[in-house]
Amino acid sequence: MSKLIFALAIAVACAAPISAQTVSKKAQEIQNSAIVIDTHADTPQRFLDENYDIASTDPKDHGHISLDKAKAGNLGAEFFSIWVDPDTNRGHFARHTLDLIDSVYEQAAHHPDRMMMAFSVADIERAHRQHKLAALLGIEGGHSIENDIRLLRDFYRLGVRYMTLSWSNTNEWADSSGDINDPKIEHHNGLTEGGKQIVQEMNRLGMLVDISHVADKTFYDAIAISKAPLIASHSSARALTNHPRNMTDDMLRAIAKNGGVVQVNFYSAFIDENYRKAAEAQAKDRDAAVKAYTDKMKADGKTVSYIDEDRIEREWAAKLPRPPLSSLIDHIDHIAKVAGIDHVGLGSDFDGVSGETPEGIDSAADLPKITQALLDRGYSATDIRKILGGNILRVFRQAEQVSPEMQSAK
Ligand SMILES: [Zn+2]
Repeated sequence: MSKLIFALAIAVACAAPISAQTVSKKAQEIQNSAIVIDTHADTPQRFLDENYDIASTDPKDHGHISLDKAKAGNLGAEFFSIWVDPDTNRGHFARHTLDLIDSVYEQAAHHPDRMMMAFSVADIERAHRQHKLAALLGIEGGHSIENDIRLLRDFYRLGVRYMTLSWSNTNEWADSSGDINDPKIEHHNGLTEGGKQIVQEMNRLGMLVDISHVADKTFYDAIAISKAPLIASHSSARALTNHPRNMTDDMLRAIAKNGGVVQVNFYSAFIDENYRKAAEAQAKDRDAAVKAYTDKMKADGKTVSYIDEDRIEREWAAKLPRPPLSSLIDHIDHIAKVAGIDHVGLGSDFDGVSGETPEGIDSAADLPKITQALLDRGYSATDIRKILGGNILRVFRQAEQVSPEMQSAK
């Protein structure tokens, strides 16, 4: 080897970590061998408000999820979030829940060769064999059931397979982390008796109990009463990024003991402390801008859509430098160390964070970069496959087993 070529080889080798966002053959093979499952994407807001088609090939589209992007990242299953904005849907939460559920079914119906509705572990595995994206449904926020356990059962029958006990709003039976310090909100010290019954009914149905967004006490109440393992569909680690939406190490250990799984949220303000602080510093002005816009729309008699708010949020987010991908990997790594490798997965919050994801993660197509980064940190192929989907599949299977046991016990 000539000196020059040797020097070049060294330069290339040294440059490798800098361009770590390229995906090696080995990482791609691991990605391709896994059933990759993401447990939280807000794309249904786009289906409904924007008439967005998941088969879109528009190169300018800033969305995180399309069938092409899912294919490029080998995303096998997506839990589509059925999130009903409690402010703009007052008085008809359940109806809007139904509209969002319909929007996902319609996408699957329009693209039967590439996408299918999925309601079970077996369905996810079948979709994987058929090279289709498995579409699952998760309700984000217990207010969707309008305090009616019959509606909970109806939503299960329509295919909903997890429910987040609360969104950022405390409802009549579960306290949320989003308003826990707001004295104007009536709180319950966690879950009410009715809330505990709802958790048990979810167990009986085989619907996963999701504790993302809930207040800490709600988490401990839910974990004490649930007969099936819990999931955090999109939450990160509070020890690294001090946000009340994230989970403390004690909560991570409790999830491990319960056999559940924490699906790491990719949102920049949940995974990077510097970004969180920068976002917090601009929050007042940012919220005021959104409010000024929505107030004007309301004054003009127009309805405010998620998309409009998202556009303003993006303008503000563009002023902040994106965190590095390593911040996200730090969270996966931390949860794997504190809770154990069997209790961590991916819950991106794609299409729900106004583009605020770490560098290199612009859509589902970039998921293999996470695999590469885990490989770079010494994770084995077996462990990476657990993170990519194996763990959530195990928990889902357990929830499916608890359900008939409880039904026959009655
Ligand atoms: Zn959320």
